[in-house]
Amino acid sequence: MMCPELLQAFQRRFGSTPRIFRAPGRVNLIGEHTDYNDGYVFPMALDRYTAVAVAPRSDRMVRVYSASMEEEITFPLDNPRRRGHWSDYIAGVASQLEMRKVRLPGADLLLFSDVPVGSGLSSSAALEISSALAFLSLTDDQLAGEELARLGQSAENQFVGMNCGIMDQFIAVHGARDHALFLDCRSLEFQLVPLPSDHCRVVVCNTMVKHELGASEYNTRRRECEEGVHHMQKQWSTVKALRDLTLEQFAHVEEELDPTVRKRCRHVISENERVLDSIRSLRRGDLHHFGELMNSSHDSLRDDYQVSCEELDLMVGIARGIPGCLGARMTGGGFGGCTVNLVETDAVDLFCREVGALYRNRTGLAPAIYISVPSQGAHEWNSQ
Ligand code: ADP
Ligand code: MG
Repeated sequence: MMCPELLQAFQRRFGSTPRIFRAPGRVNLIGEHTDYNDGYVFPMALDRYTAVAVAPRSDRMVRVYSASMEEEITFPLDNPRRRGHWSDYIAGVASQLEMRKVRLPGADLLLFSDVPVGSGLSSSAALEISSALAFLSLTDDQLAGEELARLGQSAENQFVGMNCGIMDQFIAVHGARDHALFLDCRSLEFQLVPLPSDHCRVVVCNTMVKHELGASEYNTRRRECEEGVHHMQKQWSTVKALRDLTLEQFAHVEEELDPTVRKRCRHVISENERVLDSIRSLRRGDLHHFGELMNSSHDSLRDDYQVSCEELDLMVGIARGIPGCLGARMTGGGFGGCTVNLVETDAVDLFCREVGALYRNRTGLAPAIYISVPSQGAHEWNSQ
């Protein structure tokens, strides 16, 4: 929906004229399962957004319509309760703002999004950040950068009850056109790194499967990483997380580790090095090497971290066989969800056709495919 249409839809439903704010979905290009090891990630904002149109009300109620859900919900600003419903994200943002002493008026909100919901492209952070900007616009308070990202994260952690890291909210705030974002998850220092859209596209392919293992395996991986850290602290007392180790150091102690723990640590430590290598490659404009690093990232997630699955491996295998595909890997937690592919611009049409057809032939599933370029983070969306 274009901005003027959203404006009209709002006027028809609520009878007033809104301001509109939007925030993008994201894909992580490399740096998987590194965030909770204090490591590096490298996401970019997609050119897909969640837009929130907003106008104040004279009472302390929030009335919100989601075009994605085709549903309207009303909740009070005083003691909003968690309902296990999509409106929890909005209520969570409102309640976190008020906990930070931002006094909100009631509000009418209309949501429209072209970020696919629940596909691992972070429609949730897009919703949190766009609605936070919408609420803030009704007050004299301002929140930006890291504070805004943290607000979104705490709405999700504390109100919705999802224990997510800060990457999704951070890129939704800080995304920039033609740049991916190199983020240090320990210090939250970040750098925008050029990923020029003239030579390549980022293509996201959804396997259309989500295996149940995800949640329990995630907790197991976290424990295994902690066990590795614990062991290596005996050798190097200053090590606080896997992020503090190089592969060279690891080589001295890996034999002492339990074989499973060893593999998990090797993934995380090598993945951090791959992220750093990716940044250097892109800074010298070497997309081919960046693509190779994406490939190695997938292989490491498949063999050492063991969070891939048949469908992800199949889709990555198909992608790598298509000319013009520079790199292909799973993205997100694993056990299903999406792959991310770096594809030369001229080859994108062929790539999408082939991946779509071959994956469907093998699985009977028609993958959703999104072609994207790195896009701008959260902002007010004006109609011109
Ligand atoms: P992801 O962030 O990968 O898309 P999540 O499960 O973290 O998946 O978040 C998806 C949830 O966020 C949805 O189930 C819904 O509750 C909420 N949500 C996201 N976008 C919208 C929207 N446009 N309208 C209503 N709810 C939304
Ligand atoms: Mg999410």
